[in-house]
Amino acid sequence: MRRILLIAPSLLLLAACTGAPRISALQNPLYRAENHTSTITARATETRNGITSITINAVVGELTACGGLSPSLIPCRTGASSLGVICTFPSTKSEVSCSLPISVTPQRLITYSATATSAEGPTASTGSVTYAAGAPLTRHRVDKGMFRFTIPWETARPVIWRTDAPSSGTDRGDKIDLGFVPDPDMPNYRAFTDDLEAVALPLFYTDTNQFSLWTRSWKKLFNLWAGPDGADGYGCTRTFAAPASTVRAAFDGTAILHRAEFRDCASITPGGGAGTTQTTLSDAKWVLLHEAAHFLFGLGDEYVGGGSVSISNPRNVMTSQASCQSTSTTNSLPTAQCVQIGTSGTWRNDNGVSTTMEDRTWDSDFQTLSGKAMANKVADCINGACY
Ligand SMILES: [Zn+2]
Repeated sequence: MRRILLIAPSLLLLAACTGAPRISALQNPLYRAENHTSTITARATETRNGITSITINAVVGELTACGGLSPSLIPCRTGASSLGVICTFPSTKSEVSCSLPISVTPQRLITYSATATSAEGPTASTGSVTYAAGAPLTRHRVDKGMFRFTIPWETARPVIWRTDAPSSGTDRGDKIDLGFVPDPDMPNYRAFTDDLEAVALPLFYTDTNQFSLWTRSWKKLFNLWAGPDGADGYGCTRTFAAPASTVRAAFDGTAILHRAEFRDCASITPGGGAGTTQTTLSDAKWVLLHEAAHFLFGLGDEYVGGGSVSISNPRNVMTSQASCQSTSTTNSLPTAQCVQIGTSGTWRNDNGVSTTMEDRTWDSDFQTLSGKAMANKVADCINGACY
């Protein structure tokens, strides 16, 4: 009876749609620059027939600076070995999980992916994620013919790097590389990595508020990185000394995480810039997104008293009503929504809904021209060139 029913194409389609598992995987902690146990956990759901197995495959090796006479900022891996785990389930229809703990020693570079199989046979896999763990690389040894010496060297430290082939040559053009570095007011590097997780994990994965919908929806367009000491932020002043100044060249934008209280600020840059985020704020994850929107996408402040300058595509803040109206028309938005920002002489398109460049609330989102700029960035990335 079942076999006869499944001959109907519409039912086959239905089976294919509803029988495929949903699966996600993430390491815990996200990044820690010391010996620890790193646990990769995959979670899968298939409510129709149930999950029968989850497989996690991992490759662990030594993080290097890609050898040669000139070391790279993006790391490579040597001495790779494979490990994994298979968890089996009795066609469980509620969410199931499977974990692979890895004992981390210095300079590890780990890549993993996970696959879930449902009772009807369909499988689903996560993409591969590569991350660094353990004490970072701080020296590079050149050993080539007559050249034999060791130099101080730091690489970017991948936290979420969406690749199964880590190398300095890995194409990252279709990704937004967001880097995090510590301010000197962090008690130590561990405090920095703890705070990095406290803001990045909700913003890209676990938060349930409207403000994080864009980053959670498009997280696969992002690589997340950690960097070494050397940055210093205070107010709108930011300085970068080595090694942070060198390593940040690998990032499309850099967030300086700090604990001391000062008003956060960012460059208005189409990538390549930087900003600060005070991690001790109760809404630090929102502040990180707002500042990142300045230094990654060139969006301007839309609130009264903010820095009303924009270089995004399209601009979300304009220097005249006429410019706002023409930009709105080009982007299919009502020109009647063009309003002046206070008495600043700058204009924006306002639909009355809380927007991330104006309203510091959990229900904010990227509205009107900000929303168009973010959609254009997604299209750029999907076409292979975020920048
Ligand atoms: Zn701002």
